[in-house]
Amino acid sequence: MRPDLAACYGQERLPRYTSYPTAPHFSAAIGPGTYAEWLKAIPRNASASLYLHVPFCRAMCWYCGCHTSVARRDEPISVYAAALRCEIDLVSRQIDRRLQVDHVHFGGGTPTIMAPEAFADLIGSIRHSFFVSPAAEIAVEIDPRRLTRQMTEALAYGGVNRASLGVQSFDPAVQRAINRVQSFEVTAEATEGLRRAGIAGINFDLIYGLPHQTVASCLDTVRQCAQLRPDRFSVFGYAHVPAFKKHQRKIEEAALPNSLERHRQSEAVAGALIEAGYVQIGLDHFALPGDGMTSALRDGTLRRNFQGYTTDVSNILLGFGASAIGRLPQGYVQNEVGTRAYSQSIAAGRLATVKGYPLTNDDRLRAEIIERIMCDFGADLGQICARHGSAPEAMLGSSPRLQDLISDGIVELNGTSLAVTDDSRFLVRSVAAAFDAHLDGSKQLHSRAV
Ligand code: SF4
Repeated sequence: MRPDLAACYGQERLPRYTSYPTAPHFSAAIGPGTYAEWLKAIPRNASASLYLHVPFCRAMCWYCGCHTSVARRDEPISVYAAALRCEIDLVSRQIDRRLQVDHVHFGGGTPTIMAPEAFADLIGSIRHSFFVSPAAEIAVEIDPRRLTRQMTEALAYGGVNRASLGVQSFDPAVQRAINRVQSFEVTAEATEGLRRAGIAGINFDLIYGLPHQTVASCLDTVRQCAQLRPDRFSVFGYAHVPAFKKHQRKIEEAALPNSLERHRQSEAVAGALIEAGYVQIGLDHFALPGDGMTSALRDGTLRRNFQGYTTDVSNILLGFGASAIGRLPQGYVQNEVGTRAYSQSIAAGRLATVKGYPLTNDDRLRAEIIERIMCDFGADLGQICARHGSAPEAMLGSSPRLQDLISDGIVELNGTSLAVTDDSRFLVRSVAAAFDAHLDGSKQLHSRAV
């Protein structure tokens, strides 16, 4: 780690580049009509991925950056699940066949807040409207504190084969400060229950940079998690944006680690996971050597989408639910953010699209460069530009930021091949930003690069 660079580049507010351009650039010019046209134009040989958003939780974690709200009663959740089923029908009817689906992801919020019967009905709707391939990955985000045996069985019966469990930190002081008390035993019980039910793919989510968190407590959390041997870990830095997420104001700012300490925690977690036998994938994922994500990294087929690093290679993502984002060859679409407005739109038989972004050829070129940099810590600009009918020299010459990164030893250029230097990998978002033509208008909306 180079503290001089961490202090300089690490202070910048930059996108995580789970899409390009990023969501702040979406506009109301894209609505239901455009989405319907884009759906009708899905190529005949295409397959798709589905994302279903369930924006409800039983209690709010103060660090949360997701689109979610607290539901103490079950009724709004069952009404919302019914709206999701209607949306699946509505969207699939725009396509002139049963589109093949290779990935399904239930995110939140807490998808497992639904009643087991409601989840089974939802899976039934998906299978009725789409052809879910037998080898499809069906993944669900899980709050281990509230996972019941009945829900575990419903997940397994529905064909779920990957579960992402929120863990964050086992340090009791950190847990109290973020309003998320979750013992090791509860996490172990959920993990073992899922495995017993036949759900073999297990991911754990960890966070560093939380209030009162230290390198020692991060290492202790990793040590405990490693005993349960999940296949994958996602390790995110806490993004403190109280201006946009009001519940984050309950976090004591004085207890937050500074930029350098955050970086130490990130490095300590990475080192401990590697020592425990995991392979680092991109910026913030870790996987066992035999895992599909590790193979994707090795084969150069690793991708990045709204959930982070993924083995999902489809270029079509259909998003369902309030705030859900979809991606089609023509561009991005996003649904109504509020659950009430979303449900009203669907009940009226209208696609709930309220904004989006039509991709230009330049966006597609830059999106591919940024995705390769985020996945591989490098990119062959010559090859990528050739695929898009463009000249790499123009791309290289158009970025003053890139020249600074080269001068500071963060990037090495060999012909038209670019690589992030090993001790600068933590600044990969800064390197990706060198190819972001939309950056200036959205900087204040993002988290710090380190
Ligand atoms: S359970 Fe997850 S989505 Fe719900 S409030 Fe906590 S962090 Fe946010």
